[in-house]
Amino acid sequence: MKTQKTLAELANTTNVCDDYDPNSMPVEQARDYIKAFLSPMQETERVHLHAALGRVLAEEIHAIHNVPNHDNSAMDGYAYNADDLGQATARLRITGAAFAGNALTGRFEKGACIRIMTGAAIPAGADTVIAQERVELDGEFIRLSDTPNRGANVRYAGEDLKAGQVVLNIGHQISPADLGLIASLGIGEVSVYRKLKVSFFSTGDELASIGSTLKTGQIFDSNRYTLFGMLTQMGVETHDLGAIPDDPILLEQTLIKAAASSDVILTSGGVSVGEADYMKQLLQKLGQVLFWKIAMKPGRPLAFGKIGNAHYFGLPGNPVAVMVTFYQFVRQAMLVLMGQASPAAIPMLNVVCTSPIRKLKGRTEFQRGILFVVEEGHWQVKTTGNQSSGVLSSMSQANCFIVLDDDVGNVEGGSLVKVQLFDGFI
Ligand code: AMP
Ligand code: MG
Repeated sequence: MKTQKTLAELANTTNVCDDYDPNSMPVEQARDYIKAFLSPMQETERVHLHAALGRVLAEEIHAIHNVPNHDNSAMDGYAYNADDLGQATARLRITGAAFAGNALTGRFEKGACIRIMTGAAIPAGADTVIAQERVELDGEFIRLSDTPNRGANVRYAGEDLKAGQVVLNIGHQISPADLGLIASLGIGEVSVYRKLKVSFFSTGDELASIGSTLKTGQIFDSNRYTLFGMLTQMGVETHDLGAIPDDPILLEQTLIKAAASSDVILTSGGVSVGEADYMKQLLQKLGQVLFWKIAMKPGRPLAFGKIGNAHYFGLPGNPVAVMVTFYQFVRQAMLVLMGQASPAAIPMLNVVCTSPIRKLKGRTEFQRGILFVVEEGHWQVKTTGNQSSGVLSSMSQANCFIVLDDDVGNVEGGSLVKVQLFDGFI
């Protein structure tokens, strides 16, 4: 078990909780602090392969046999031994036939060949296959139109997986390809970490839930739906605890309820400066929570910590900021909590940006971008326009973030920018 700093220690080592901007915390540093404070899931369960997609392996998968487990043909054609092919006698007698999954009919003889179909086992003594298009049939003989190299068109036993090798490691998230790979070993059940239970709720007096009529000054709560969507993409168990007004008693009850039944609690709103301070007071009372100002836009306020045994992320209220902070901080942290030892970073590409962008140095900006095809194979990126953190339609239109690091200033149209794909996630 690695030693972790306490949250209080983290808080004391920097000025990160200061409200004054120059002390706000760089994005990378916030990521590192969060990473140092995560306790990955330990509980495991066995599931059938049909239920294993997206789950994180809690056991190593070994190859219990070779895949494929016999040398076999990669083509429909004829199998023979390359030694038997004299230059002048490119003519072989057919003495048998092998179909995939069936025993050889007839037999393979030295100096002869057999008809063989894709996937059928190569008979002992044969070592090469010629495709049927490259032979001429002459009664019970074939005439070869060329001389393939020894071993041509043969797929060897263990070419995919060798008996005894480690196929997938503990902490690997199971993809569709992995399901097939595990099935190719004849394994039907795997041990995975238990699903994370994630409770989330929105805070704000102005929030109305779907089904009610908006009163003056009210808005419909959209954050619970973007959060629900992203959490569902992650394959966790979601618990929607509703939209809670800025009322200390209700907020406290909801936090206590969430902490008792969840591995992770996510809230939106109520963590920025100038909010009715209930959330901050409650979080300080109920758990160990830090309030950070991150040097980023959108998504500056972020709270992180623990309430009881549950990890807590307090996201900003603005709809775009919720999605950005989730994608930049929560997603990676939750993958670790789910049992993934080292989650793959989201790919970052360098792409020409056709829009000029005004940008202040000293903070990271995540602009909503649209990657588009200029001509076959060539992509460029443009912004979605209005980058206000309340404009959720920009997230719907976008397919990527244009990531402008701390040291980047104004961007002229036609310059290279870093682009992070949504990858079907957002
Ligand atoms: P807050 O962080 O609570 O100050 O909220 C910042 C902004 O986001 C305000 O304009 C809120 O009305 C808006 N907002 C907060 N929560 C939500 C929500 N659940 N759905 C949509 N907008 C929200
Ligand atoms: Mg609020």
